[in-house]
Amino acid sequence: MNPDQMNMVKPGGTIGILGGGQLGRMLALAAARLGIDAHIYCPEENCPASHVSAGFSCAAYDDERRLSAFAGAVDAITTEFENIPADTARFLAERKPVFPSAQALEIAQDRVDEKAFINRQGIDTAPWRRVDTFDDLNEALSDIGPEGVLKTRRLGYDGKGQARIQSLEDAAAAFATMNNAPAVLEGFIDFQREISVIVARGQDGEIRCYDPGENRHAEGILRETTVPANISDKTRDSALAIAGQLAKALDYVGVMGVEMFVMRDGSLVVNEIAPRVHNTGHWTIEGCAISQFEQHIRAVCGLPLGSPARHSDAVMTNLIGDDVDAWPTLLAAPGTALHLYGKGESRPGRKMGHATRLL
Ligand code: AMP
Repeated sequence: MNPDQMNMVKPGGTIGILGGGQLGRMLALAAARLGIDAHIYCPEENCPASHVSAGFSCAAYDDERRLSAFAGAVDAITTEFENIPADTARFLAERKPVFPSAQALEIAQDRVDEKAFINRQGIDTAPWRRVDTFDDLNEALSDIGPEGVLKTRRLGYDGKGQARIQSLEDAAAAFATMNNAPAVLEGFIDFQREISVIVARGQDGEIRCYDPGENRHAEGILRETTVPANISDKTRDSALAIAGQLAKALDYVGVMGVEMFVMRDGSLVVNEIAPRVHNTGHWTIEGCAISQFEQHIRAVCGLPLGSPARHSDAVMTNLIGDDVDAWPTLLAAPGTALHLYGKGESRPGRKMGHATRLL
């Protein structure tokens, strides 16, 4: 899109956000800093983003009457949640500019389409096979080896909808956990470390990447991101190039997270693309002048992108479940910024907040 055709939301305008979780909350706060109001559309009442936003529509993603009214109340629309039905994005796109596009969402929503897309760009993923039946699984295991991770094609997050397979004997139990949902088998990757790149692409095609963060997961859930990642300059440069290439190939507008495995020889394997601001980019709020949240708002509003330069090293720690009870200690910790998401009840595995410590 050339700059004359860009859809611009100016200060004083309103950005519509599909989804009302903590990512929507932090997007709304970043929009507010630019004088742009946020209007949240989310099926759950009392969601974290609604607490800090000027407008809130509590309705289902297939409620066309409410979606039309929402489109009428905003200047452009974005998402904070990758599983927004692509049809919802398409319906809204007939009424107002929607970024990222329904097509980009659709590719990232299905692990088979996503991996096929990444491989078409000449970029490595774990070896994978689609699995619809138990026979497919056995065939896939004999093709790519007995160690792997079976994942549902759709709607998996934070390690949900995944089963580790360590030998052929595990196959039946792993298949049973999929409840007959279409799945994909990935070969097990013996990576050295995990990193992610937060990449922004503007409506004019300009690309800006933040420094890769190094991520530590436990039970499939992100626990900690450290910047800078402990990788060579060469690996860093390839990681940024891969993220930029994927954003361009998707004709993506906004911020997305690209998760990668770093192999012992420094080469990279892409794990997945998240078409939204990303948990591994929360450190940018304190570590950069322009956070991933403001960068996303700038991109979808057609405003100039900001500098992604990192002025401080940082460690971001997620507060999961009862971890949040440490808030008084975290408030007292030097150089630490605490973010609480305003979720009433803490449950095991629920992301309640995060803390970023500048190093
Ligand atoms: P995902 O939901 O695909 O992001 O997976 C969550 C986490 O599980 C990743 O961040 C890795 O730590 C681990 N994991 C996922 N897929 C694989 C794989 N193919 N090989 C090894 N570890 C994996």
